Amino acid sequence: MLIDSADELMDIARKVPMQRLEHKVFTDAGIEVLVRRDDLIDPDLSGNKFYKLFFNLRAAREQGFSRLLSFGGAYSNHLHALAAAGNRHGFNTLGVVRGERPAQLSPTLSDAEAWGMQLVFISRTDYGHKSEPELLAELQSRYGGFYLIPEGGANLAGARGMQLLGRALEHQLKGDYTAVCMACGTGTSVAGLAAGVDSTKLALGFSVLKGEGGLGDAISTTYRQICKSGIDANWRLITGFHAGGYGKKHPEYLTQFWQDFERSSGIPLDPVYTLKLFWGMNSLAQQGYWPRGSRIVAIHSGGLQGRRGFICP
Ligand SMILES: *Cc1c(COP(=O)(O)O)cnc(C)c1O
Repeated sequence: MLIDSADELMDIARKVPMQRLEHKVFTDAGIEVLVRRDDLIDPDLSGNKFYKLFFNLRAAREQGFSRLLSFGGAYSNHLHALAAAGNRHGFNTLGVVRGERPAQLSPTLSDAEAWGMQLVFISRTDYGHKSEPELLAELQSRYGGFYLIPEGGANLAGARGMQLLGRALEHQLKGDYTAVCMACGTGTSVAGLAAGVDSTKLALGFSVLKGEGGLGDAISTTYRQICKSGIDANWRLITGFHAGGYGKKHPEYLTQFWQDFERSSGIPLDPVYTLKLFWGMNSLAQQGYWPRGSRIVAIHSGGLQGRRGFICP
């Protein structure tokens, strides 16, 4: 999908299908769950990364850059989406990857390379310094100037894209829903989402990280920057459903849930983000977290390319 204007993005966002989830736990709890299938936007560039990259590409073009640089791991949804976007929109892309180049690239990196992304492998120690000026200066002297997108697309431009998703959702449901839930890594997306929906709606971010130190602050900062306001009340960070942490081997109960969920709903989930979102929502519903009659939206933020590195149900 090649898009050039925010109007076009909005148009796509307003047409994203919403699917009513038929899953026993939610029905028993008396709540309606609508899944917003942002994973279906496009086979290669979808989910929250589609929205997060939009204003970044626009800024890069406006600032005259022909090269985009970002960071990620071997299964990074962000690098995968960036490579696809660069390929379509005529940018050179550089993906800086943590660790040594393996003999066999992951399916993620192999796609990225096929789409023209130049992969640069750096040591874990150097990777730890990825935001520091020295490393960025070295990359610049070696590869030339670039528009920098932080790991995971975690910047204000990324959140602004997600703000449009929030607006589109509000429009589609004419405001008739209680809360919106999504999986949360850096928190950029949920901050943008909360800023985009009506301030009476709660946006819940389900953290997939084990230690959430600083995540709430990051969401708050981004939210305030977008809204240019000191008040940020309509989001919550939900913790406790990381199931061991980012990219860790799943406990048996999670694998079981994954299997049951996909069988009963027909909706594929990714192992890192959306699985934990629905697991968390499932648990909250069982605990009676939402009053009966609530109408909850779940954002399917994509990431399905990541299933390939995994044994899926
Ligand atoms: C990257 C990603 C997220 C997390 O987005 P953040 O803005 O970093 O919180 C959630 N879901 C999927 C599928 C992702 O790929």
